[in-house]
Amino acid sequence: MPSRPRHVYIHVPFCGRRCSYCDFSIAVRRVVPVDEYVSALKREMDLRFPDHDPWPVDTLYFGGGTPSRLGGEGVARAIEAVRSRLSLEPNAELTIEANPEDITAANARMWRDAGVNRLSIGSQSFDDRVLAWMHRTHDAAAIGRAVDVARAAGIDNFSLDLIFSLPEHIERSWESDVSRALALGPSHLSLYGLTIEPHTPLGRWHARGDVIESPDEKYEHEFLHAHAALTAAGFEHYEVSNFGKADRRSRHNSSYWANVPYAGLGPSAHEFDGAVRRWNASAYAEWVARLADRQDPMESSETLDAGNRAAEAVYLGLRTTDGLELRAGELAQVQPWVDAGWAVRRGDNRLVLTPLGWLRLDALAAALTHVRSRY
Ligand code: SF4
Repeated sequence: MPSRPRHVYIHVPFCGRRCSYCDFSIAVRRVVPVDEYVSALKREMDLRFPDHDPWPVDTLYFGGGTPSRLGGEGVARAIEAVRSRLSLEPNAELTIEANPEDITAANARMWRDAGVNRLSIGSQSFDDRVLAWMHRTHDAAAIGRAVDVARAAGIDNFSLDLIFSLPEHIERSWESDVSRALALGPSHLSLYGLTIEPHTPLGRWHARGDVIESPDEKYEHEFLHAHAALTAAGFEHYEVSNFGKADRRSRHNSSYWANVPYAGLGPSAHEFDGAVRRWNASAYAEWVARLADRQDPMESSETLDAGNRAAEAVYLGLRTTDGLELRAGELAQVQPWVDAGWAVRRGDNRLVLTPLGWLRLDALAAALTHVRSRY
């Protein structure tokens, strides 16, 4: 456990059904075992925060899975358990990931009363055909209703997730989906390109030849369209996949990109103390069983060596508009990127990638890491 991490992630693995593209660590449950989950979470905190007085925490993030499936009371009980051990700052950012169908008036009021002040809503598309193809558990109308309900409960800071670069035969209109998302007035959007993972329904459709990956040009076109449409609507494209209105960046996720320590609790949760990464057993049943035996649920850990840390610093720096501090001797290396429109220089020696650069993020980060490895 990092000695006093100011950011805490809690993984809630439950989902009603597996989405066609998803290879996350989840537990599909029709009835969510709230008591069992909250008890195990308390045990993990007892085991792993034994000697600490409560320390101040800036951000608490419930991710998944689908944390909203804990319901109003389940989320409130989990937050209460955290508050009994940690001290959430008065202006702490407290986010839960929620699927639209779980955002009922009763749940939203209980979340708000428990301190939730930000929702990350899994919307993915506003086309019912596409949502059915993705095996989502909601239709497009449910997204609008969820936003209305959240606002009525006083939670107006919400992010919408959308997936782009779908296979061409789906005939999805990305432009229409971006417009419909904007019409709901979110404070933040997270956009992810579809990847076809092998052990998913989508992976099997692909292996059978029923689905063909979309071409790179489609990915690029949709990414650049989103950048243009969202920046025109007043959003800052502050990280490769994330857009926020003024002061509405995700503070929690920004801590990952700033490479600062964070704690991780729950099955499969990752944690970083500034030098060592550790992660918990991913299977829900194993996480529960280990904690019932008062054992640390850690699956494994790795200590980052100098090479890993250098590579990570480059990759994380290039992901955001905060950019990367260049070292002497690197200016000549990156000048062709600036000339190509992939990056801009800020001040004397800070490099910030443009959207065209983010389309090449992995290659540019690898090239700069290689340069750094030589001295
Ligand atoms: S709701 Fe999210 S975590 Fe659950 S199956 Fe779908 S994509 Fe995966």
